[in-house]
Amino acid sequence: MKKPIALLISIILPAALAVSISVTIFAAYLKTPVITSIANQTEGIKINWDEVYGATGYRVYRRCKGEKWSYLETVTETEYLDRNTENGIYYIYTLRATDGKTRGDYDRNGKSTKRLVNPDSFKAVNKTDGIEVTWSKNPGATGYRVYRRGAGEKLSYLKTVKEPYYFDKTAVSGKTYRYTARAVCGSHISYYSSEGVVTKRLLNPSSIKTANRANGVFVTWGGVKSATAYRVYRRGAGEKWSYLTTVKNKYYLDKTAKKNTVYRYTIRATNGKIYSYFYSDGSVIRFKAPVFKGIINTTYAESYSSLNSNLKKIVALYPDMLKLTSAGTSEAGKDIPMVTMGHGEKNALIVGAIHAREHITTKYILRCIEDYCFAATTASGKIGNYNINKYLDEYTIYIIPCTNPDGLEIVRSRLTPHSSVNVKDLSEYKANYNGVDLNRNFPLAWNKINNGVTRPSEYYFKGYASGDQSETQALMTLCENNSFEFMLSIHIKGNCLYWGDTYNTKYNARYKAFATDIANACGFYMTKPTTNASSYGGGFENWFRHTYNRPGVCVELSDSSNTVKPCNNSNYTDFNGFVNYKYSKYALAAALESKSGD
Ligand SMILES: [Zn+2]
Repeated sequence: MKKPIALLISIILPAALAVSISVTIFAAYLKTPVITSIANQTEGIKINWDEVYGATGYRVYRRCKGEKWSYLETVTETEYLDRNTENGIYYIYTLRATDGKTRGDYDRNGKSTKRLVNPDSFKAVNKTDGIEVTWSKNPGATGYRVYRRGAGEKLSYLKTVKEPYYFDKTAVSGKTYRYTARAVCGSHISYYSSEGVVTKRLLNPSSIKTANRANGVFVTWGGVKSATAYRVYRRGAGEKWSYLTTVKNKYYLDKTAKKNTVYRYTIRATNGKIYSYFYSDGSVIRFKAPVFKGIINTTYAESYSSLNSNLKKIVALYPDMLKLTSAGTSEAGKDIPMVTMGHGEKNALIVGAIHAREHITTKYILRCIEDYCFAATTASGKIGNYNINKYLDEYTIYIIPCTNPDGLEIVRSRLTPHSSVNVKDLSEYKANYNGVDLNRNFPLAWNKINNGVTRPSEYYFKGYASGDQSETQALMTLCENNSFEFMLSIHIKGNCLYWGDTYNTKYNARYKAFATDIANACGFYMTKPTTNASSYGGGFENWFRHTYNRPGVCVELSDSSNTVKPCNNSNYTDFNGFVNYKYSKYALAAALESKSGD
């Protein structure tokens, strides 16, 4: 049996020799292809080479370490994507050119790389100090190159890390970032996932505060840039965090808290899709009935700076009811602070201290804001018999505690008025910085005012033109923009209400009915309609009534038997008695009730 095989070989051998001779002849004609690049792509390993003259195709060979070359396929282009690879394995490639009949030589060494698949399963999560980026581990890699692209930027390399984890501390609040990574092993590198992961840097809500209110735990926190809402979480002792609700505002009243129970609250910011991390440990409180601690101290007169700081403090306590804003600027350049109270569609206005020396009306208004807001947090929501919560839903009340801040500083801090003002006694001062009595400056029968005061003075000067003072203009603009249902201007003294005049008596019956409701609540007496143009001319409430045909009332706190200088220290020491606060505090509530449901 052995002999015939040996014979067969001897017959085949000459033919094999003939083939090898022909290869040798044409090898000089088809050059050996040179691989110019080899790289991992998403789908496999891609090699490129230079075109070989005379070639109509290229035979691609591959081998792994310790193995022999194996033929893969013949291609006509000068590139080849090997999709049949396994992660972590070295692959060596070489090529032979062919013209269809003959084949060129090949590079015995070939070109090699390690197959590294793209990192995937990226996750990016906001943490307290930055964005935590993770992805799936590649067992063939010894590290990862991390890249980031901020909105409007190019993709940039950040760092090489060993584990599939990167913590980006440099992400800017409110900015959107895309993260991706490439797996590396020595000089070998994977392609990168162009998708990666996208997230927005959202900081933790800051400074969570909790306060007891009679009707629940009130939670407030600092806002976060680019957040559109906040998720509120609560945890009782021994419990896990539980999600309560999502709110758009930076406060939440938890009415489900149980009495005498300890709760911890925390907040996450969100833009609907992306979440911030939790605010550290949150804020802890034992829910119990609160004891009212007023901010407004009635034993001293407000200065301009204490007025501003007290307003900030009250608004911080009741951000769900109050907003701090501005009514405009005084003649000497001071902001005229204003708060809005409530969130109803109808508007109302209450102003104080249009007359400088009557600055106790500023204190009166601050007390009212505080007492009304506290009443709104009680179980009944009432002050006296008046349901504040109902009014706050129905109305937005614009409140200007001090309409004439320069005047306040002239009387309180001896700010010097403009040099043109003829002043005898600064403590008697009623006017603004320019010596204009703002309550004579409004464009209502202004030409008819004839009170003998024709130059800047501590009181009664109507100005050189109607509405020429910035405080007057601020109030007129405010009225023009807000369609107030009514307005109250708080003055001293007389213990009475000025509700009508004879400029135009058409709606006086309606104005009288409105004022009577206030008078009945507060114990004020009703004056008769003012007949003298020098008295009603230029008045704020008079101008308001006749411009908008709506009630405007001058409320004169305190008894007319009080001294000429209405506001001295003893007036403050006896604040409650001097302004009869027990009853006079109902003026605004009674006005709201009178107009409620109109
Ligand atoms: Zn006055």
